[in-house]
Amino acid sequence: MTVIAPQPGILEISPYQGGKSGVAGVSNVVKLSSNENPFGPSPAAQEAVRRVLHEMHRYPPTDHAALRDAIGEVLDLDPARIVCGVGSDEILHLLCQAYCGPGDEVIHTEHGFAIYRIGALAAGATPVEVPEAERVTDVDAILSACTERTRLVFIANPNNPTGTMIGTAEIERLAAGLPERAMLVLDGAYAEFVEGYDGGAALVEARDNVVMTRTFSKLYGLGGMRVGWGYAPAHVIDVLNRIRGPFNLSGPALAAAEASIRDTEFVERCRAENTRLRTWLAEALMAHGVPSDTSCANFILARFHDPEEAAACDSFLQSEGIIVRGVGGYKLPAALRITVGDEASCRRVAHAIGRFKAGER
Ligand code: PMP
Repeated sequence: MTVIAPQPGILEISPYQGGKSGVAGVSNVVKLSSNENPFGPSPAAQEAVRRVLHEMHRYPPTDHAALRDAIGEVLDLDPARIVCGVGSDEILHLLCQAYCGPGDEVIHTEHGFAIYRIGALAAGATPVEVPEAERVTDVDAILSACTERTRLVFIANPNNPTGTMIGTAEIERLAAGLPERAMLVLDGAYAEFVEGYDGGAALVEARDNVVMTRTFSKLYGLGGMRVGWGYAPAHVIDVLNRIRGPFNLSGPALAAAEASIRDTEFVERCRAENTRLRTWLAEALMAHGVPSDTSCANFILARFHDPEEAAACDSFLQSEGIIVRGVGGYKLPAALRITVGDEASCRRVAHAIGRFKAGER
């Protein structure tokens, strides 16, 4: 058989590993591995999907106007600067495809989200990893890693899997210090969990070299519907609309997203519960001798003595039917990322970790 080689860089990509959703032979599983909304989707989103199901023989709209208008209205943004994608993953990939190729460099942080490197390699560009002391994005280190070949700089704020974030002044300093041909991509997948934070939207409006990406997969509870969006200067929106699939989002996905963002009461309740339970969980784990950095997102990064202890705890939790996320792939082998679940799940995982730390294995 002749193996036809793919483009250079493709075989350097390790396929993205999603969080596990089950454990063989264990029932009553609680899944805290993918930062999903433990309260599910908004009832209004479910109803909206039911209303459009009879139209599944029709192609969906290509311009996503109703969803863009809803996002614009609720978040006070300009719908003309919004582009919607199949999860924010698609927007991240489109940015790589449109703005970089062989010879170009794409900067991501040491503990940054895996898709940045995958997107860069898929576009034939060179990913450049910047170290992060203390698991926090380091603007000076990023600026010193920039060269005239840098085209994209990805940071998630708050970051996954660390949960840490940097302030607006730091982000502005980063955007202002980038080389001329480089663009800053602010990945705001977890921005909604930070009270009063616009994810970088005002900076997008103020500058030509900043793009923000957002998702419906986390706070809005629509991970399975695959809807994300980007907020960008008009010239970037124009470019991304030239290359994205014309019918990238299905009718049910669009309907669910529009209803979700308009259900502000549900969203508020989920946000408030996340904040309350995140504090509770972090304190409960600390009381069991498991520290975590202050998280600004819907998960915490629980730190263990060493990779062996983290792996043993992961196995113990699995045997108890609790699935969390090992983050060895993110160079954090001594940590486990735990999604903030509902109250019962938080109590269950904290109790199990307490038993593990007390020597039960
Ligand atoms: N960015 C970050 C930082 C994420 O954690 C995720 C989801 N794990 C995404 C982007 C992509 O999310 P989605 O494609 O579901 O919008």
